[in-house]
Amino acid sequence: MVDLKGQYEAIKEMVNSSVLEVLDSTAFINGPKVHEFQKNLEDYLGVKHVIPCANGTDALQIAMMGLGLKPGDEVITADFTFAATVEVIALLGLTPVLVDVEPDTFNIDIDAIKKAITPNTKAIVPVHLFGQCANMDAIMDIAKEHNLFVIEDNAQAIGATYTSKNGTKQKAGTIGHVASTSFFPSKNLGCYGDGGAIFTNDGDLAHAIRGIVNHGMYRRYYHDVVGVNSRLDSIQAVVLNTKLPKLDAYNKARQNAAEKYTNAFKGEENIVTPFINDSQSTHVFHQYTLKITNGKRDALVEHLNSKGIPCGVYYPVPLHSQKAYQDSRYNEADFTVTNQLIKEVISLPMHTELDDEQITFITNTVKQFING
Ligand SMILES: *Cc1c(COP(=O)(O)O)cnc(C)c1O
Repeated sequence: MVDLKGQYEAIKEMVNSSVLEVLDSTAFINGPKVHEFQKNLEDYLGVKHVIPCANGTDALQIAMMGLGLKPGDEVITADFTFAATVEVIALLGLTPVLVDVEPDTFNIDIDAIKKAITPNTKAIVPVHLFGQCANMDAIMDIAKEHNLFVIEDNAQAIGATYTSKNGTKQKAGTIGHVASTSFFPSKNLGCYGDGGAIFTNDGDLAHAIRGIVNHGMYRRYYHDVVGVNSRLDSIQAVVLNTKLPKLDAYNKARQNAAEKYTNAFKGEENIVTPFINDSQSTHVFHQYTLKITNGKRDALVEHLNSKGIPCGVYYPVPLHSQKAYQDSRYNEADFTVTNQLIKEVISLPMHTELDDEQITFITNTVKQFING
């Protein structure tokens, strides 16, 4: 699905020498390289505060802790996403409220959010799924009207650009009150281990979060709040410092591969290629996800596996049906889109090193099987 080796080969000398520098300096934790990365990412995103942390799941949890959400507060998020999003809501004793998504972008559905709001609702967590932003204009309007926080889960869309109704362009993850991202190796900006970050333009929130990531300390050995230990280490920071200047080129390579895939599938009746809502958001293709509409998705997965072509089903089970997240208040009729998507979606290999020969082989294999 990803070719981390090919990408590494192209930056090997720079990465290796910067990692050796860290080893020589022995500044493994909270060293100057982490600070340098924080500044670089703030500049890239055009956001006032970046707080690096240990992974994208922690980033979400810490963002919610920073906002002071309390047990019993309801947090609305998408039914069709990776479980980390709902997991941290539940872990903090908050009440997850899962809602359906849009059939074309796979992002959280605006009417479903409106329907789910109660007097206990405190926050909305849109996930910019597969690399394309959710409808942030509508989400920010709802949040304003109901006095809610918006936490963007930006683990899959770093580098995407969102265009507001009024024409303002902002990077994904800089529009809501706070956002989280992940630097897991396969993400669009991946390090060589675990890593994550929180972004916000709110100085008070940034201050609160800087203490929370460090055991609730704002002054050494004075613990003002209950915190966690969540740090990005210096070795990951130098890998990210090497890769961040290439992020736009990496995302462009993904977009080029996506365009080639989509062209190859033109005219295919049973294959729906990704919808790009480009007046609203660029798509940075964390995943290239098709819908197979003739009931052959599962058979296609088996066929591709037998031909040595990697593929993935993201996600095979809606979160509202997962044992850990069932809730008697849910009604199947409210999840018609997710319930359909889990049967139709398949993601093809997507990374920065895909070449034309691979794309042709993959698309021919898919088409032959679907029409066969
Ligand atoms: C990857 C991912 C996360 C979690 O990131 P980790 O760094 O693996 O903890 C959270 N949300 C979404 C949507 C993700 O894709």
